[in-house]
Amino acid sequence: MTTQENVPLAPLTTLGVGGAARYFAEAKREDEVREAVEFARTRALPIFVLGGGSNLVVADTGWPGLVLKIAIGGIVSPKPKNAAGNSVLFSVGAGVNWDDFVAFAVSQNCAGIECLSGIPGSVGGTPVQNVGAYGQEVADTIESVRALDTKTDMQGDRAVTLPKPACGFRYRSSIFNRAAPEGQPGRYIILQVNYRLKRGGAPCIKYADLEKHFADRTSPPSLSEVRDAVRHIRRSKGMLIVEGDVDARSAGSFFKNPVLSEEKFQELAARAEPRGLAIPSYPALAAHHKVSAAWLVEHSGFGKGFVLGRAGISSKHALALINPGEARARDIVELKDAIQQAVESTWGIQLEPEPVFVGF
Ligand SMILES: Cc1cc2nc3c(=O)[nH]c(=O)nc-3n(C[C@H](O)[C@H](O)[C@H](O)COP(=O)(O)OP(=O)(O)OC[C@H]3O[C@@H](n4cnc5c(N)ncnc54)[C@H](O)[C@@H]3O)c2cc1C
Repeated sequence: MTTQENVPLAPLTTLGVGGAARYFAEAKREDEVREAVEFARTRALPIFVLGGGSNLVVADTGWPGLVLKIAIGGIVSPKPKNAAGNSVLFSVGAGVNWDDFVAFAVSQNCAGIECLSGIPGSVGGTPVQNVGAYGQEVADTIESVRALDTKTDMQGDRAVTLPKPACGFRYRSSIFNRAAPEGQPGRYIILQVNYRLKRGGAPCIKYADLEKHFADRTSPPSLSEVRDAVRHIRRSKGMLIVEGDVDARSAGSFFKNPVLSEEKFQELAARAEPRGLAIPSYPALAAHHKVSAAWLVEHSGFGKGFVLGRAGISSKHALALINPGEARARDIVELKDAIQQAVESTWGIQLEPEPVFVGF
């Protein structure tokens, strides 16, 4: 493992803002991860684990310690003749590109993650915020996560296998990103994720956008048609990384959909009524009084294409804050703060950011 110094982080993220890492290392194998942890420990440096950089806002001052990029590859699955029934376990290296794995699973006719097509980032990043889209989330298929526990003793093999219940998956959260005492952000370095998929399973078509896409079909779509449809829909919303599409220079959705109590939900409806507005209700949201953060943002004066200084909002999706080219982290934070304040004063709701803020 080689360690570099003062490596710019902005090009390693989809948002493209932020300063440099004091030290930077890339680990392709588990022993290199251990070596990097040891390097940081002996110098008392904080470690930040980098995947595909698609859910990050890196501070303009960068990261004062070691940034460790996980580049462990490999997709292992039993040969069809050995597989028990149609349930197939895929063991995937944390550094594998997530969408490459989805493409591979679909090519193997395995269902369970087809709606998560086109999400950028690494396999190791998916359990962290329990990645989800179009009616699926990785918690539906993750069987276990193999990780290095940085809190345990340096002696011996500190890799642990966390079964799904130990990961504490919830909407956009897990023990890997939830604050203490429930979670332990930074404790585990994810090395491999094990997904259980269903060979020959039917694709999941729950979301209105997907139902609409296939409305004229008389026969059920295949997994690969659903994958293509999801990528097509994502592209139209600037949620697919496409070279040259400035709307995709984002960290994806910048705010989580707030989950409200019955009382808070009624309060919100009461604020909407005099404005002649109705809170949008989709089946996927309504069950838990989950409110569309994009709707709240748009109805607080921050529509698609909004610009504030060097930062902006995607022209295709109100929830994506973008870097049109010259933005710094502080510009993104200024826009984030302005949106949060407007939503709070208009609707009485505090929006919680979804990306991870690094070095702030
Ligand atoms: C255009 C666009 C669309 C998006 N659409 C979606 C969507 O539909 N649904 C969704 O849920 N998300 C979406 N995202 C957000 C993002 O793609 C996911 O959160 C993704 O899983 C992040 O993975 P990453 O490898 O890029 O992680 P990074 O951004 O590199 O890191 C994110 C966090 O995970 C941690 N982490 C990463 N790898 C590891 C590891 N191996 N071990 C321990 N910790 C690790 C980091 O330390 C950090 O805390 C989108 C982002 C963009 C830019």
